[in-house]
Amino acid sequence: MKVYNTLTKKVEPFVPNHPNEVKMYTCGPTVYDYAHIGNLRTYIFEDVLEKSLNYLGYSVIRTMNITDVGHLSNDSDDGEDKMLKGALREKKSVYEIAQFYTDAFFEDCQKLNIAKPKYVSKASDHISDYINMIEKLLQDGYAYQANGNVYFDVSKMPHYYELSGKNPDDLKIAVRDDVDHDTYKKNPADFGLWFTNSKFNDQAMKWDSPWGIGYPGWHIECSNIAIHFLGEYLDIHCGGIDNIFPHHSNEIAQSEAYLGHKWCNYWMHGEYLNDETGKMSKSKGEFLTLSLLIQKGYDPLSYRYFCLESHYRKQLAFSYSSLDRAVSSYQSLKNKVKNITVNEDEKIDETLFQTYQQKFKDALNDDLNTANALTVLYEVLKSNMNGKTKRELVKDFDQVLSLSLLESNEIDEDLKQKVLSMIEERKLAKQKKDFEKADEIRNQLKEMGIQIKDTREGTIFEKIN
Ligand code: AMP
Ligand code: ZN
Repeated sequence: MKVYNTLTKKVEPFVPNHPNEVKMYTCGPTVYDYAHIGNLRTYIFEDVLEKSLNYLGYSVIRTMNITDVGHLSNDSDDGEDKMLKGALREKKSVYEIAQFYTDAFFEDCQKLNIAKPKYVSKASDHISDYINMIEKLLQDGYAYQANGNVYFDVSKMPHYYELSGKNPDDLKIAVRDDVDHDTYKKNPADFGLWFTNSKFNDQAMKWDSPWGIGYPGWHIECSNIAIHFLGEYLDIHCGGIDNIFPHHSNEIAQSEAYLGHKWCNYWMHGEYLNDETGKMSKSKGEFLTLSLLIQKGYDPLSYRYFCLESHYRKQLAFSYSSLDRAVSSYQSLKNKVKNITVNEDEKIDETLFQTYQQKFKDALNDDLNTANALTVLYEVLKSNMNGKTKRELVKDFDQVLSLSLLESNEIDEDLKQKVLSMIEERKLAKQKKDFEKADEIRNQLKEMGIQIKDTREGTIFEKIN
């Protein structure tokens, strides 16, 4: 397989540390709000990467963190704590917020056929690991204490800017979003490893430490959770492109200072999903969630299809009209699969099976070219190979694509009649302006696995997987 490595800025052959085994770490969600569909694009990319590696014969061990503590909006002591912000907004405890949005995240993943990594761990479960790492960094002169906090001294890592390709001089002069000015830091890019309770006296999550009661910085969690579950050598580390700096640059600095050797060979980053105002982001307030798409009648898997149509390293512009185009392509794809006829006595044509399988692998091997992988699928469906071979190839490819291509969305006659009468009941409720009842009926239908969508021609429905 060839992949684009952010570290070397090249597409290069992927060679794991141990033949056939891949240790993969992916940064997880900060659980103070719902994931937006941009975040979910990154998780779809990582899911396809993991499944592709498995498909290509590697055995992947993947780990992901859940950020429930420490994610400040910047790296100084005056950064805003994202979890606390969520808790205040919803008048709940930080723990309740974390649990609620973690569950919501995994529900979204399930609807998008995103597999759960083998190890998923909460940042707040690794406090003693962080303290051990920070103590060693202090002992070895990579970290220093100032104003009760502990900071990492980036000047001690000569290759600190290798991943980002940033120019340290630019960072010194400019006041930027990603590096902030904190008078206690020696260098603007130094980052917090441990904060004391100097600012957040009402911080719910805090622990005793050799430096006072406080809480860890954000970056330290990923280094520790990765090392805890995957050991000292990592093959692939992924995230969205905004993680390159400072988050992943900081992860490399502290991990390598701690371990005393190179930590991870391949860094892969997914590009942004943009809306009409630019990068989709939670801080903008209004953002698109998967639940909103479902409420509007979209099948989550048509969003997955929408993402797979483009390369993970290209920015993707979201609009309802482009999603609508993906919906019709996905539906027609599913229809083509449904219309494959398999005769009882047919056998798999092994030569054709292997030829197309190889083409599919070639697309994945080419830096995860999912758009070309879909083209191979269409070629299979268009070809005149027998139905059995077609069907087996679809099943085989769907291990990676996870578009539930062989699952039927057909509804039996009894259910259809029931759904039609409920839609009629909802229509009447809406006419009487009883919107509560109308919403209740929509929810009941959803629980029955039926998605409805109001169109100019009336309400249409489909079965969701
Ligand atoms: P967060 O929950 O904010 O920590 O973000 C979770 C993941 O989503 C990270 O890997 C981010 O890099 C990624 N991400 C954030 N915004 C976008 C976006 N607009 N498009 C794609 N990925 C994003
Ligand atoms: Zn991370």
